[in-house]
Amino acid sequence: MSELHKFLFEGLPVRGMIVRLTDAWTEVQRRRAANSTTGAYAQPVQALLGEMIAAGVLMQSNIKFNGSLILQIFGDGPVKLAVAEIQSDLGLRATATVRGEVPAGAALSAMVNLHGQGRCAITLDPKSLLPGQQPYQGVVPLTNADYRPLEKLSDVLQHYMRQSEQLETTLVLAADDRVAAGLLIQRLPLQGKGNLEGQRGQDEHETEVLNEHYNRIATLASSLKRDELLTLDVETILRRLFWEEKLQRFEPLQGETAPRFACSCSRERVGKMIQGLGVSEAHDILAEQGSIAVDCEFCGAQYRFDAVDVAQIFKAPGEQPPSSPAVQ
Ligand SMILES: [Zn+2]
Repeated sequence: MSELHKFLFEGLPVRGMIVRLTDAWTEVQRRRAANSTTGAYAQPVQALLGEMIAAGVLMQSNIKFNGSLILQIFGDGPVKLAVAEIQSDLGLRATATVRGEVPAGAALSAMVNLHGQGRCAITLDPKSLLPGQQPYQGVVPLTNADYRPLEKLSDVLQHYMRQSEQLETTLVLAADDRVAAGLLIQRLPLQGKGNLEGQRGQDEHETEVLNEHYNRIATLASSLKRDELLTLDVETILRRLFWEEKLQRFEPLQGETAPRFACSCSRERVGKMIQGLGVSEAHDILAEQGSIAVDCEFCGAQYRFDAVDVAQIFKAPGEQPPSSPAVQ
């Protein structure tokens, strides 16, 4: 079963989270394998997508955003696009667009950053947008400060989180065909204190002590090996890493509240998309193929619109059935 655990280091401004996705992750893969056009993911793509989902769940839980958190990698190699989308209730879905072969053991840069043009985007799309409001999007390159390609998704996202939240973050991610898992450790801002760098004297000493605490915990977290994250249960991982620390644990999210596979596609949404094509383009497809068929690349659901359905879509707004206009 999938599960998410949150904890605090007692007396220290440091929090942690560990996610372990099993059924939610295998469902994502099962849907892909059932797609006769694409077939199952090649192993390196599977590992990347699993890590993206685990990271997305950690980030969504960390900021508690009311809407969807969308993690996207726009690649310039064989993986053109990889997407993981996590809702505030931890319903999740993911997909990747792959062109050509991805050899076994392919590095991250070989998949998505072949020519140094790969990008990672994090979008926060609120449940309801105010008029004129755009979803927030942050974009980071897949290279470090010296323009060298990063080979770990965790490094890309750590960089993003330091930049966007101004909080020191340590992330460990791993995924295979059964488990997608992640550990996040984050330093919290001190309550009632301003910019740490501007402080002097007693506060400076205090800051130094807190830095040492965070560095110790981050070093312990970073020592977690990929294999351990994939094969050990959460209790064992926390005991092994932090047996000398005092942890305050919270009620884990598991069972009904656990992260789970959920696709937000619907016939109404596909109808909107067809509307976006324009009436002449839609009629061209109808003339050529008899109907418009759209498959959801996240869950595999098949939507088919015949001439009557298409005529409905392009009716004047006032004549539309009551179900359509409400859809976002
Ligand atoms: Zn779907």
